[in-house]
Amino acid sequence: MKKFFALIIAALFLVMAPAQAEDLGVGLEDISAEKYNVHIEKFYATLPQAKGEYKSRVRPILIEGAMNTETEILIRALKNPVVYRELNYLFVAGTYKNYPVVIVRTEIGMANAAASTALAIKKFNPVAVINQGTAGGHDSALKIGDIVIGERSFDYTAFRSAYSAAGAGIDLTKQENIGTYAYDAATKKFQAYTEYSADPTLFNIAFKVANANKNFNAVSGVIATGNCWLECVDYINFLHKKYGSSCEEMETNVAAQICQNAGVPFIGIRVLSDNVTNTRGYVPTMAKTCQDFVLLVVEDYIRDVLKR
Ligand code: SAH
Repeated sequence: MKKFFALIIAALFLVMAPAQAEDLGVGLEDISAEKYNVHIEKFYATLPQAKGEYKSRVRPILIEGAMNTETEILIRALKNPVVYRELNYLFVAGTYKNYPVVIVRTEIGMANAAASTALAIKKFNPVAVINQGTAGGHDSALKIGDIVIGERSFDYTAFRSAYSAAGAGIDLTKQENIGTYAYDAATKKFQAYTEYSADPTLFNIAFKVANANKNFNAVSGVIATGNCWLECVDYINFLHKKYGSSCEEMETNVAAQICQNAGVPFIGIRVLSDNVTNTRGYVPTMAKTCQDFVLLVVEDYIRDVLKR
């Protein structure tokens, strides 16, 4: 009997071994979320198009997501949705809990997040901005599906490396964060910010929602932004240790930067779709969890802060 089990285990090991060997390699696999949501574009096409400029008696709340998977639930939650387009970015304005809310699909990456946030601020004059969506974990204590309430964010690609001579090899762990430039109202100048802090009121509301809804596993943390997708665990561990990063993504810190320019309260909230420090895999559909959570935050913000 023992021999039989040993044989089965050996056979299983042989079957699994090639897959494991591949997992430990440096190959890049398909990380496309869009294949999950081609139908969403069809739904957006059914929404009414805006005629004329946006008008609202009160300043709306702006919620951002980069991809269809990260905006669909939010857009479906709006009453009387109307579509605006500016430089091909999609903005959907409507109401949620009887208060004006605008959803923007920022598209992926830093430049798109900056451009669409700036356009949205000019066009809609929001009272607050929430950037949300998926992220990759930097903290091995976090699982796919956990939510990071961004206490602060930073650009992990904004660094100056230590000098090393030709042929000395590459060691990016010798680096100093040099920040990104945003307007400081006090000095009336653009200055380097090594990080942007969440608006304390938005942060407290998000934290309250997390405490009141234990079906979400939401923690406060640090969001690291860059136009990169890191799968090199040693480098991720280095960033986690040096900067305290909880997760990485491609938009939050730039949206925070533009909100700093404009003096608009901001917070980033992210769900883990992947965490290479403890699992291989990418579950972009986790974006739903983040949108569900953000809608609760928006509801409480409308009631407790905007007093509507
Ligand atoms: N084309 C793919 C890849 C998306 S790019 C797709 O359609 O799914 C990554 C997007 O997801 C960015 O908007 C980023 O904010 C977020 N993201 C999720 N996990 C990430 C990770 N580990 N690293 C960087 N960005 C991540």
